[in-house]
Amino acid sequence: MIQLYIPLNFLGVIYREIKQSLTDLDRLFALIDREREVADAPGAVPLVLSGPPTVRFEHVRFGYDPERVVLFDVDFEIPAGRTVAVVGPSGSGKSTLARLLYRFYDVQGGAIRIDGCDIRQVTQASLRQAIGIVPQDTVLFNDTIAYNIAYGRPGASQAEVEAAARAAHIHDFIVSLPRGYETIVGERGLKLSGGEKQRVAIARTLLKNPPILIFDEATSALDSANERAIQAELAATARGKTTLVIAHRLSTVVDAHEILVMQRGRIVERGDHASLLRQGGHYAHMWALQQSGGAVKNESNEAPIDT
Ligand code: ADP
Ligand code: MG
Repeated sequence: MIQLYIPLNFLGVIYREIKQSLTDLDRLFALIDREREVADAPGAVPLVLSGPPTVRFEHVRFGYDPERVVLFDVDFEIPAGRTVAVVGPSGSGKSTLARLLYRFYDVQGGAIRIDGCDIRQVTQASLRQAIGIVPQDTVLFNDTIAYNIAYGRPGASQAEVEAAARAAHIHDFIVSLPRGYETIVGERGLKLSGGEKQRVAIARTLLKNPPILIFDEATSALDSANERAIQAELAATARGKTTLVIAHRLSTVVDAHEILVMQRGRIVERGDHASLLRQGGHYAHMWALQQSGGAVKNESNEAPIDT
């Protein structure tokens, strides 16, 4: 009994750790199927989209641990083809929004809908096909760089893979390696820096080119020159897509259709950039601090703000 219990429990811990980093886990799911917390509903149907959809978080409530609620009644909509940005202190629940939309976990109250369809009613494969994520921390497969980029769109040609890598400013680095695109990366291969992994994830998402995009502090590990260049690529990719941007730099959210300011699992302010500045609240304060180059602190609990 005990012998059986410990390994399963241990797998669960590993699984949760990896899941945290929002990588595509389909291969892992096949291995540890029992540990899945989220499964296709009986009679789940493929999500069929004719273009960028409307994404709606409807009174979403969620906690990783039922005793501790992490999102309280979070309610917002990303209209088809528009961008909604989320800002707020570390731990306020921003990445959790991304994990729920990709359905690593199910909501405990309310619903997430894509074109009106509850994501619990569609197959996970079709849901994940429709979404591209650049996560906060990318975990790469122990496979070639080419595989890791093409994973976004199996069957992509080498020319397409390279075009995506160029757009993500990682091509020159890749061709400087002795084995180029055939270099094995990941834990058992060449270990890439945080910024290099982030650019591989960006290339993967650019190549996948899905109708829904999630950028979770997608350029946080890059130096500022690379960051500016890649921000422009990401903005161009997001044009006309339904996009959720979790921002660590406010300059990237100025043009968003709506900006949500989160604190401790709640949306505490919302509006477009100009209206939030006029409100003179948290956002205006964060903006003023960032403009002056000051370190931004969250006045309510002293946690650093991810901006
Ligand atoms: P943010 O992205 O805004 O920094 P997160 O959405 O990652 O915040 O986390 C929100 C809250 O949920 C935090 O209090 C965090 O500690 C908690 N949390 C995140 N992941 C887990 C997890 N796997 N298990 C338990 N708590 C978690
Ligand atoms: Mg986060």
